[in-house]
Amino acid sequence: MTSVGIIGSGFGALAVALELKRAGHTDLRLWERSDDLGGVWRDNTYPGAGCDVPSPLYSFSFEPNPHWTRRYALQEEIHTYIRSVADKHGITPLVRFGSEVVAATWDEHSSTWTVSFADPSTSSGTREETVDILVSAVGQLSRPRLPAIEGVDSFAGTSFHSAEWDHSFDPAGKTIAVVGSGASAVQFIPHLARDAAEVIVFQRSPNYLMPKPDKPYKAFHKALFHKVPASQRLERGVIWTFMEQFARGLDDESRVGRVNKSVAMWHLRKQVKDPDLRAKLTPDYPIGCKRILFSNEFYPALAQDNVDVVTYAITKVTRKGVVDSAGTEHEVDAIVYATGFDSQDFLQSIDITGTHGQKLATQWADGAHAYLGMYVPNFPNLFVTYGPNTNLGGGSIIYMLEAQARHMRQALDRLVAGDYETIEVTQEAEEAYDRDVVAKLEHSAWAHCDNWYRHRSGRITSNWPGATLPFAKATKVLEPSAFRWA
Ligand code: NAP
Repeated sequence: MTSVGIIGSGFGALAVALELKRAGHTDLRLWERSDDLGGVWRDNTYPGAGCDVPSPLYSFSFEPNPHWTRRYALQEEIHTYIRSVADKHGITPLVRFGSEVVAATWDEHSSTWTVSFADPSTSSGTREETVDILVSAVGQLSRPRLPAIEGVDSFAGTSFHSAEWDHSFDPAGKTIAVVGSGASAVQFIPHLARDAAEVIVFQRSPNYLMPKPDKPYKAFHKALFHKVPASQRLERGVIWTFMEQFARGLDDESRVGRVNKSVAMWHLRKQVKDPDLRAKLTPDYPIGCKRILFSNEFYPALAQDNVDVVTYAITKVTRKGVVDSAGTEHEVDAIVYATGFDSQDFLQSIDITGTHGQKLATQWADGAHAYLGMYVPNFPNLFVTYGPNTNLGGGSIIYMLEAQARHMRQALDRLVAGDYETIEVTQEAEEAYDRDVVAKLEHSAWAHCDNWYRHRSGRITSNWPGATLPFAKATKVLEPSAFRWA
């Protein structure tokens, strides 16, 4: 029986485990460094954390949830959903909690992966397991990043990253600096602004912000979703169709992009009356280049008297607060860093060694790339979910994860049916695929500003170009000639 080890227990890991289990592959284990499953939906517990993709689409296609309390579910509800799906399908008992993978090495003689885990109880500090197939499902946003600003460690007050929210911190009556104004900040700043004496938002770049068509589901909706499941499928279909059009707006020549920009600018004019604040909040780059955000509360929060938006760069952090490039020291009680994640150095927290001692970190030194975002030459039997060029600027990542899982299942089925021990994508197939992706990305909105989708080499390593249907089509049927089977 072919053994499969999956690193992680978020949506990506679950998508693969569910697909393989349903197809009869039962030697599965999921390694989770924490003591609970859920990935980013376990970790990001900041006030107001939620998803800006509607829940009927931001859920597994085969597990609709008639219990969603609102169209855009909040973190706790999404985390509960993940847990319940894992329980229902018998995945939870397959998860080995407290298992932090630190290295994985391909053994050419046995055609297996030797996976090493941090283990302080052993003399070497590690322990090992062996599997036939290694699946990375660590995602793109699992490692919070603090900014490289002088003095970040010297602040004497409370400070934390948005993905590691300190729930013992009471914002009431406090002066709080927030560094960053991206997708996370937009969600928690309105909550801080409600209680804090003062919130100072250090905004390096403004974002395009759209209204969020959120609403609680009434008893009527829930009863309908229960009794007529097709009604929820219909809602999902409508949202998917809309999101596919939205994704088209991320092509810089697109008419949809111009419509998106008009809506965002209308939203700003409607919600922010002060011309000075409005000027600060007006982006000067093409729409879609940074993630388009959705909120009905963010602009009104920034317009409150107890909220200030500082657009000067931060030059240093001191014991007392934050110094900006105009020389002002802002004394604060707390600093919240909403500065994003280490998204570019894919999988580099794990020391992965493939054939002939090839290191994945070396192979991807100029930015990660993989055939269909999943398969890497020189790394047989390694499957990567939510890998390079599979993130979206609009749409549901879960749709993408399901497509990847179906492709991985085909790969495993063929491996087993053909009595092969290894599957490895050919260099030619990977390079041809990558040329196509890179060419398409050159025309995307993401090519026109700094964003977390780009590697320091300039390469756009995070995002899939375009809508999700073309990805589903590209991954629908495995092309055997793209791989070496042995
Ligand atoms: P982010 O979007 O990467 O935002 C980071 C923010 O920090 C940006 O405003 C950035 O400014 C700023 N920043 C970084 N370094 C700085 C520095 N040295 N000085 C001042 N400002 C600095 O991070 P995030 O908000 O955590 O979101 C990351 C991703 O997580 C999102 O894009 C999204 O994919 C996902 N997410 C999704 C949801 C959802 O609703 N589905 C919610 C939250 C997060 P610049 O823009 O100038 O770089």
